[in-house]
Amino acid sequence: MADSSFDVLVIGSGASGLAAAVSAQRAGGRVALATKGALQSCNSAKAQGGIQAAFGDDDSPEQHAEDVWKSSHETADRGLVEILTGEAPAAIHWLEELGVEFTRENGGYRLARCGGASRKRLLQVGDRTGHAITTALRDSAESSGIQTFPKSPLAGLARTENGWRARCGDHTIDATTVVLAAGGRCFRVAKERGELSTNHPGATGEVTQIAVDLGAEVRDFDALQYHPNGGAWPQNMQGYSIPETTRAYGAVLLNADGEEFTDSLGPRDAVSQAIVEEVEKGKGLETPDGRPAVYLDTTRVSEADANVSLPYMLRRYRAGGIDPLRERLFTYPVLHYQNGGLVIDANAETTLEGLYACGEIAGGTHGRNRMMGNSLLECCVFGRRAGKAAAEKAKT
Ligand SMILES: Cc1cc2nc3c(=O)[nH]c(=O)nc-3n(C[C@H](O)[C@H](O)[C@H](O)COP(=O)(O)OP(=O)(O)OC[C@H]3O[C@@H](n4cnc5c(N)ncnc54)[C@H](O)[C@@H]3O)c2cc1C
Repeated sequence: MADSSFDVLVIGSGASGLAAAVSAQRAGGRVALATKGALQSCNSAKAQGGIQAAFGDDDSPEQHAEDVWKSSHETADRGLVEILTGEAPAAIHWLEELGVEFTRENGGYRLARCGGASRKRLLQVGDRTGHAITTALRDSAESSGIQTFPKSPLAGLARTENGWRARCGDHTIDATTVVLAAGGRCFRVAKERGELSTNHPGATGEVTQIAVDLGAEVRDFDALQYHPNGGAWPQNMQGYSIPETTRAYGAVLLNADGEEFTDSLGPRDAVSQAIVEEVEKGKGLETPDGRPAVYLDTTRVSEADANVSLPYMLRRYRAGGIDPLRERLFTYPVLHYQNGGLVIDANAETTLEGLYACGEIAGGTHGRNRMMGNSLLECCVFGRRAGKAAAEKAKT
């Protein structure tokens, strides 16, 4: 017997789950959101760099889509990519309506070029973009009557006559439709491999497994992404993802001899691979505790750019005794993101009717290699679509 029942149940309180819940509520659904830890616990809030959308005069959603297609090595789902890039500007305006204040300059957005991008397209909120987005979405969810169940991890999901029954911690919740927004699995995988990860401890992937056990299809599931610039030293910065915007604002990768060995703004997988190979060739460095590394020469970033777009990164390193504007950083790739996931259609519905998926748990939008700044975008674009579609289906 369920202790409560709703039109739409959302699982997860990252950017995608919050966007889905807010949209489902606005579409007229009675919405519940259950999550594993506190509402604030998620990877989305840790995102620093930014979110992509084609606002530049020389840019367009088509150009953005072309960059995604190339960075994915032509493995992404083109239909999903066109939705992602086509709805990006509207998603940004929606976030602004909810209170997100993107950094601006010269009368427009401050745009940076990120790895794999042919244009400057990355919007930022200083270097705490994910924090700003999740705070605004959470405020909206909490003030709009959505019932939240923190500390209620999904442990079981079964079909019922009218929809789904979910076991979430101590609660049994019935819902006509369910949106899975429980993120990826890189924290667990890194632990199993004995590696560092940028991820939050909640990123363990059991919700994907629950969906797969019910018969949902996955794609590109083996494709895990390494962030090229994990912090390698000092110890308290190991596993920290040095924002890609350091490279967008002029930082370059150097080997032990101080030589540039790769295009520092190439696609993520290419840059990570180049670092690993440079170290294998014996041209890397070793941290004081014996870990492999190369240099990220952040001294090339201007103080003005750093103060506007990298203040959090500066604070973190300076607290550890290192000033990134005066000395190079030790860096090495670190496990970061699940590229693939549950197969979805244009409304973010999985291959199981009435079960939706959005954000990192879903596959297709990035193919086998995601570009920076497209994950927060995916959370907003497909979170909104999933919430609206789930509420509408629940009413039919
Ligand atoms: C350090 C870092 C920096 C990043 N920087 C950027 C960036 O600059 N730009 C960008 O676009 N992307 C960035 N990313 C990637 C991006 O932030 C994430 O991929 C994206 O936000 C994932 O959002 P999500 O909503 O799918 O998942 P998450 O934000 O991870 O949220 C998942 C939610 O599901 C919950 N959950 C997990 N298991 C269960 C369960 N069993 N039951 C109930 N709830 C569960 C979790 O507790 C959490 O609340 C970064 C990621 C990290 C880690």
